[in-house]
Amino acid sequence: MQNIIFGPIHSRRFGISLGIDLSPLQKQCNFDCLYCELGGAKSVERMQEVLSVEQILSPLLEILSTQPSLDVITLSANGEPTLYPHLYELITQIKHHTEGRYKTLILSNGSLFGRSEVQKALREFDIVKFSFDCFSPQCFKKLDRPNKSLDIEAIRRGILEFASSYQGELVAEVLVIKNLNDSLEEMQNIAGFLREVGVDRVDLGTLDRPPAYAIEGVSPQRLQELSLAFEGQCVSIPIRKEAHIQKRVKLDREDILELLKKRPISTEEFSTLFEGVELCEEMLENGEIMIKKVANMQFFAPKS
Ligand code: SF4
Repeated sequence: MQNIIFGPIHSRRFGISLGIDLSPLQKQCNFDCLYCELGGAKSVERMQEVLSVEQILSPLLEILSTQPSLDVITLSANGEPTLYPHLYELITQIKHHTEGRYKTLILSNGSLFGRSEVQKALREFDIVKFSFDCFSPQCFKKLDRPNKSLDIEAIRRGILEFASSYQGELVAEVLVIKNLNDSLEEMQNIAGFLREVGVDRVDLGTLDRPPAYAIEGVSPQRLQELSLAFEGQCVSIPIRKEAHIQKRVKLDREDILELLKKRPISTEEFSTLFEGVELCEEMLENGEIMIKKVANMQFFAPKS
């Protein structure tokens, strides 16, 4: 069986990651998002092609026996990994064999977090990342094109229920698409919900690879504007160093405190957009600000 294990690859947001694809033969997802880089495919309610735990573990353990240098083992799928019916058995086996040497991460669309068997499996992961592009049912239907078995209110309840019993790091991803979920109102509703969930980090992004359908992303400026809806939350935004390096803004102490009051800024984003990292270091030493570490990223944050 080909391509069950892929990488290691370097991910800016999670470090060096070895990937496991639970659906290597075909896309099996209960969404058909307009932006999906796997291409369009009819949504499914359950997986049709199911690998055995052994089929996944065997090539994984072979690679791990070479002691690769990794930050994280990432479960994803050519589709939605929580559709995999043996998820709990698989993750407990991986943890048993690796004895905690690597962190574990799952990349999900969040749609099945209300199911008790999915929650049981998710609780075994060190980091759970889920996508959440829309608050309103209209937006959800248009952008994520879910299977008819799903509805956004039930998904929201499921995410809240799971989050209330989860001890690991919870990361949400919001992908912003022009004219679909880029209004301030939609973003404020998304931000309010994610605040209620208590996610540790929000990864805010837009299109950077060819999508399944003809849609457009938003500009870096628009992403920055929308990020202000996530007041007080750690938000990671994609940074194009070449685009910003010429026009970095110089900040003084008051500016930095004011900026961080709105939301914590990742150290990477700060040094790309602003001059003043040395001042931040000084303020860190004086205890005026602090560093927040979330799932392999660091943020300058106001002192709590
Ligand atoms: S949830 Fe992920 S895999 Fe499924 S259609 Fe959307 S982008 Fe593609």
